[in-house]
Amino acid sequence: MSFFSKLPLQAKSWCRAVRLLTSSRQYCQTVRLNSRAESAANPLDNDMLPRLPADFLSPEEQMMKDSVMRVATEKIQPFVAEMDEQSYMRKDVIKCLFDNGLMGIEIPEVYGGTGSKFFTANIVIEELAKVDAAVSVLCDVQNTLVNMLFINLGTEEQKDNYLPRLATDTVGCFCLSEAESGSDAFALRTSAVKDGTDYIINGTKVWITNAEHADVFLVMANANASAGYKGITCFIVDKDMPGLTIGKKENKLGIRASSTCPINFDNVRVPASHILGDFGKGYKYAIEMLNGGRIGIAAQMLGLAQGCFNHAVAYTQDRKQFGQRIFDFQSMQHQISHAATLIQMGRVFMCNAARRHEMGLPVIKEAAMVKYFASEVATHVTSKSIEWMGGVGYTKDYPVEKYYRDCKVGTIYEGTSNIQLNTIAKCIEQEGLN
Ligand SMILES: Cc1cc2nc3c(=O)[nH]c(=O)nc-3n(C[C@H](O)[C@H](O)[C@H](O)COP(=O)(O)OP(=O)(O)OC[C@H]3O[C@@H](n4cnc5c(N)ncnc54)[C@H](O)[C@@H]3O)c2cc1C
Repeated sequence: MSFFSKLPLQAKSWCRAVRLLTSSRQYCQTVRLNSRAESAANPLDNDMLPRLPADFLSPEEQMMKDSVMRVATEKIQPFVAEMDEQSYMRKDVIKCLFDNGLMGIEIPEVYGGTGSKFFTANIVIEELAKVDAAVSVLCDVQNTLVNMLFINLGTEEQKDNYLPRLATDTVGCFCLSEAESGSDAFALRTSAVKDGTDYIINGTKVWITNAEHADVFLVMANANASAGYKGITCFIVDKDMPGLTIGKKENKLGIRASSTCPINFDNVRVPASHILGDFGKGYKYAIEMLNGGRIGIAAQMLGLAQGCFNHAVAYTQDRKQFGQRIFDFQSMQHQISHAATLIQMGRVFMCNAARRHEMGLPVIKEAAMVKYFASEVATHVTSKSIEWMGGVGYTKDYPVEKYYRDCKVGTIYEGTSNIQLNTIAKCIEQEGLN
């Protein structure tokens, strides 16, 4: 019996599709070539397109989803309430993410990573968020921002030095925001002044996720102020470089276990070999990385919404009033069905954006839309979940109030909802109406 004949039906149709789509690179080349063909009536050869739904999982993706669900339930769930209450992330939870290959999902195996793809990273982020959005964002920032910057831009030496550590035991963070530059990120004031072959970094970053546990900091600093935002350069700063200090952790409404701290750079001397990518291209890298990052935040918000929904609906199927389950009241069913529809719409949208990103297709508009939409869905579902549970939903005896608090940040980080809407409007104007 061949390997193929042993696969379940779902896996077989996936394999057929993969054969059709010989490689995503070939597909992208076809898209590019065809988009150049002026006003061709049907620019793509239909037979080349995979005919699978965006949210259809390959056997490998399904396996990853199942195993993350197991890890999250067994190794993270028992500590969620305690970590939230005490506003800290247990070291054994972070270790568990590393041990299960969840901190280096796209890092190639040759560097000790999992060697998987962007779509899989999003499945992992979503599954973790069903249990704890704080653990999910730790994993999200590491995978979609820090690791990807190293993978895409690192020199061989930088990759050899950092990727094996990021895959196995080193947390990284992405340092862009400052007190005076949040939405207007490229007005940043942190400076990098050349001194011989080194750069001296001065400034303060704020709101930095993972700061408490990180050993590597990717810092956007302006190394040529006269060029404006085109002076912004990405520097790799190690925790032990003299002059770097991590400030007091923010006392937050939600994702309390995730550390968010200011970081001060006081004459931090960094060799020129610690520039990641090209001098003056930091603004471009930040924009590009945040497209992927926003899809990751959408996955986080949808996982969070689903996790909350699961708790609340199970309660409605158990709780009785007026002699029947509260789930059996039609007005409850309609609200529950509406919420389930929103989550499913978000999932399909997120999967589509993630698949596009993985294939190298443009995602600026999709990433902004799905991040905006998913955070709205999470806001609606978590709020309704509390209502469905009545008084107990409002207490810390049940997990739904935590999901309600955790979801708010989805409308803020990696670009606020207004900023996503600005981006979508720009795309509408550029693309024209169709
Ligand atoms: C928990 C948490 C974790 C974070 N993690 C990181 C991290 O790891 N790294 C990092 O670099 N940053 C991080 N951030 C920072 C985050 O990206 C910023 O908070 C966000 O970009 C908004 O900036 P701001 O807080 O300065 O708000 P502001 O920019 O001051 O915005 C305030 C309000 O004004 C609105 N507004 C601003 N400009 C416009 C406009 N042009 N049009 C319409 N409305 C506008 C906004 O939408 C918002 O409603 C984090 C933030 C939080 C809360």
